[in-house]
Amino acid sequence: MSESSNQNAPRVHKFLSEDLTVRIAVVNATSVVDEMRSIQNAYPIPTVAVGRSMVAALLMASHLKEGQELSLYFQGNGPLGRVFAEANYEGHVRGYCNNSHIQLPIEGDLSIGAAIGIGLLTVTHHLPNQQEPHRGTVIIRTGEVGDDIAFYLHQSHQIPSVVSLGVQLNEYGLVQAAGGILIELMPGHSEDMITLIEENVKKAPSVSKRLMEGASVEDIVRDFMGETPLMELEHPFPIKYHCRCSMERVLRSVMLLGIDEIDRALADEKPLDVACEFCGRHYEVGAEELTKLRNDLYKISLN
Ligand SMILES: [Zn+2]
Repeated sequence: MSESSNQNAPRVHKFLSEDLTVRIAVVNATSVVDEMRSIQNAYPIPTVAVGRSMVAALLMASHLKEGQELSLYFQGNGPLGRVFAEANYEGHVRGYCNNSHIQLPIEGDLSIGAAIGIGLLTVTHHLPNQQEPHRGTVIIRTGEVGDDIAFYLHQSHQIPSVVSLGVQLNEYGLVQAAGGILIELMPGHSEDMITLIEENVKKAPSVSKRLMEGASVEDIVRDFMGETPLMELEHPFPIKYHCRCSMERVLRSVMLLGIDEIDRALADEKPLDVACEFCGRHYEVGAEELTKLRNDLYKISLN
């Protein structure tokens, strides 16, 4: 990739107000959300729910450190089942929900709160080198994702924030625009700043509509921040739909099926076909591996 195309590749842009009391992350994530939709052949409501979660994960992960990642896990009682998204500091992101082929009535504004339902949101911050991850859990506030992230930031980190996420689909269910902005008020922020942002939130058009109009991420920041002096922070990582699945992880998940299921697969006398739910990659687990897993499980059961 040439340097110029690299510079134009979508990435999470980060800004800081000159008085250091407001930090902002903003992204045009249309490409990665549509890639998820295409790989999983996700239907409209699942695409919006997972897409918003992917955008939120990208924005939040941009504030981590190198090599760190963050995941959002909505365990609601709605028809989508569990909704999961994961992103790292370097802009890699993936997501899925249990029921990506569910047909749900589309309301005017694609409200997804009911599709996610009532339950818990867990935010996990993974540190490198196998240290214990940090986990924070809050109730799902509305299931619209943006509200839930703002609630989490306030409950778990005492950070007042504005989270605006948007995924716009066309009549065929393809992603026309997806993106979002995360504005966090840091200690020392002024009342004037709160007033300014609150006023702008009321009149700001949705992020996805702005992206469809061709607005840049800087334009979107200005919708919310007006003329506030800002500086852009270095964060030169093009976003990318990226899955970390591997045969090793697949074997671990096959092991979770238990001895009876593995015996059934062995009796079939053909390799077990396992598809990754994030990226659709297929893995064939042959008789040799299945037998080894079975023996391992048998040994564990004896202990
Ligand atoms: Zn995968």
